[in-house]
Amino acid sequence: GLELRNIVKNFGAVEVIRDVSLHVNDGEFVAFVGPSGCGKSTLLRLIAGLDKPTGGSIAIDGKDVTAISAADRGLAMVFQSYALYPHMSVRENLAFGLENTKVAKAEIEARITDAARMLEIEPFLQRRPGQLSGGQRQRVAIGRAIVRRPDAFLLDEPLSNLDAELRVSMRAELAALHARLKATMIYVTHDQVEAMTLADRIVVLRSGRIEQVGTPLELYNKPANRFVAGFIGAPH
Ligand code: ATP
Ligand code: MG
Repeated sequence: GLELRNIVKNFGAVEVIRDVSLHVNDGEFVAFVGPSGCGKSTLLRLIAGLDKPTGGSIAIDGKDVTAISAADRGLAMVFQSYALYPHMSVRENLAFGLENTKVAKAEIEARITDAARMLEIEPFLQRRPGQLSGGQRQRVAIGRAIVRRPDAFLLDEPLSNLDAELRVSMRAELAALHARLKATMIYVTHDQVEAMTLADRIVVLRSGRIEQVGTPLELYNKPANRFVAGFIGAPH
């Protein structure tokens, strides 16, 4: 499991994450929701070990993330900005980092084929990211995480750039992927429907604090306050 204990993060004098504690079970699908600037991406970066908290600790299976090498953390992050390698083809982007591991070449190919089909990016495998639309790049970024077969996915608004139709089909694909891989999913979204339909639990953040954590039904039926209600609760 993943354990966040009293996480604080300051940028200069600004407290961006304020005393966040959360336990995520293995295989759980947790959605982070909250307004722009509330600290969602910052929290993902801290969980990924890309940045250090100012206070508190983050542990994976009882071990502090900072004490585990990046390769052994078993995490794959999909960044809000995609962070693809511009000089590499889509195929190379997907394979990058897997080629010098124990994963066999044929297995890498099979995973790429599988992910490309699921994400409908097969026609673009030879192109570079600069020759793709935003939504296509976004899907490549998801693919790069999928081919790694991580224990946990950290997904920062992975469907935000897709049109309505693609968003619905990708939502279903992500649900199927979660069921198939049984990986932990930490999923940042602005989309209430995504959070409600995909997540086992939803974490509502506001100004770096957790306002409420619960199942979609709990939050919908019993929002702790008007703020939570405004995000996911029943109208009242
Ligand atoms: P959005 O929904 O717009 O992506 P977010 O919830 O992901 O927002 P964060 O990116 O986590 O928000 O940012 C939280 C706050 O921390 C913001 O006020 C942001 O300006 C600030 N912040 C983020 N990164 C840095 C940084 N490296 N240096 C200084 N301030 C930062
Ligand atoms: Mg963000």
